[in-house]
Amino acid sequence: MNTSMDFDIIIAGGGMVGLAQALALADAPLRIALVEQHPPAPPPPLDGACFDNRVSALTPASAAFLRELEVWDALAELRLCPYTRMQVWDADGTGAITFDARDLHLDALGYLVENTLVSAVLAQRLSRTGVVCRFGAHVAGLERETAGWRLALSDGSSLTCALLIGADGGASRIRDWAGINTRTWSYEQQALVTTVRTALPHRATAWQRFMRTGPLAFLPLQLRGASDQHYCSIVWSCTPELAQELLALSPQDFALRCAQAFEYTLGEVSVLNPVQGFPLWQRHAVDYVAPHLALVGDAAHTIHPLAGQGVNLGLADARSLAAVIRRAQAQGRDYTSPQTLSRYQRERKPANLGMMLGMEGFKRLFGSNDLALRWLRNQGLHLADTFAPLKHTLMRRAMGHD
Ligand SMILES: Cc1cc2nc3c(=O)[nH]c(=O)nc-3n(C[C@H](O)[C@H](O)[C@H](O)COP(=O)(O)OP(=O)(O)OC[C@H]3O[C@@H](n4cnc5c(N)ncnc54)[C@H](O)[C@@H]3O)c2cc1C
Repeated sequence: MNTSMDFDIIIAGGGMVGLAQALALADAPLRIALVEQHPPAPPPPLDGACFDNRVSALTPASAAFLRELEVWDALAELRLCPYTRMQVWDADGTGAITFDARDLHLDALGYLVENTLVSAVLAQRLSRTGVVCRFGAHVAGLERETAGWRLALSDGSSLTCALLIGADGGASRIRDWAGINTRTWSYEQQALVTTVRTALPHRATAWQRFMRTGPLAFLPLQLRGASDQHYCSIVWSCTPELAQELLALSPQDFALRCAQAFEYTLGEVSVLNPVQGFPLWQRHAVDYVAPHLALVGDAAHTIHPLAGQGVNLGLADARSLAAVIRRAQAQGRDYTSPQTLSRYQRERKPANLGMMLGMEGFKRLFGSNDLALRWLRNQGLHLADTFAPLKHTLMRRAMGHD
């Protein structure tokens, strides 16, 4: 422990990844603080069909991590929807692929859960640990000290730490202040999200139709304790022009366009929440670590939501960094040293980069109007669907197993 500092570790940012990071370190013999600019989000009311617009498809690997953090049971008790099948098809041709949990002898391929619920259970569990939580104050400035960092908070106070973990999202200021560059480009797409009710049951399937303007996903939701399979979260990634047009529609007209774009696979659709739009960026930090500093989650990498991997990669970062810090401590090594922190970078950067390149390739392949590429993608989907070893490899990777 560095006694000249207020804290051994400060985590800046209390989104899903920052909260999980704090919890993963909470029982280590370290003085830890978390600074989050917003107060803890109240979970949405669980009675009635009032779902939050922002949901994540958590992989079994993320579920296992949340189990280790002792929050999974609380989450499952609130509400989540396991999905057992994933159906992906190409709007242009005949290519389609279906993934089924039974092929891998699993109960589920993943779990759809509202982000606010994940944050709520993590924050609640964290409040029962020794981690000092400073909700409602943002980090307004950062200064390098010989043995760590000094953070200036918006309430006028300042805090010092030996190791700063930047978990402050895609527009991370910690990353910028630390002088870490990113490779950034716009996908030239926006993601529109809302919650819908469908005429036909979703059958615990995550559906995704690829169009040239981008993919449209219907992700299954489930009410607590009910077997009603008619609620879905939609993520419609499309060109900014189409997004503008769709955002200007009435809920009824948006619902109609949505059902049409989805070829009425789940029948008529009604929209339950206001439609929200998010511009999509691909961003990758050139380095995940700097002296006495590490980045996790979207602060290190932001990825297209088409494969539902963003928060899953971030949770894997948090798990890896916590393990690296604990191992160094157990062996009496300095957990803030460049050698120690670079182990984290070596473990996570290739995995994240691989996923980002894969998603970029997918996006380009499906966005192309080139005849040869269209033939290739139909053949590729057909091959992947019928060749079991390839399909199983794809499934295992998507579920967070390397
Ligand atoms: C439409 C859409 C759909 C998605 N679907 C999926 C999916 O199905 N599966 C999946 O895995 N991922 C999905 N993602 C990605 C996922 O939402 C993100 O990867 C994830 O939310 C990142 O979490 P984070 O904690 O790293 O960052 P954030 O959620 O951005 O959290 C950062 C936190 O830091 C705080 N903060 C920022 N600056 C400061 C400061 N200066 N001081 C104090 N606090 C600060 C913020 O208030 C925020 O709480 C999707 C993304 C989009 C846009």
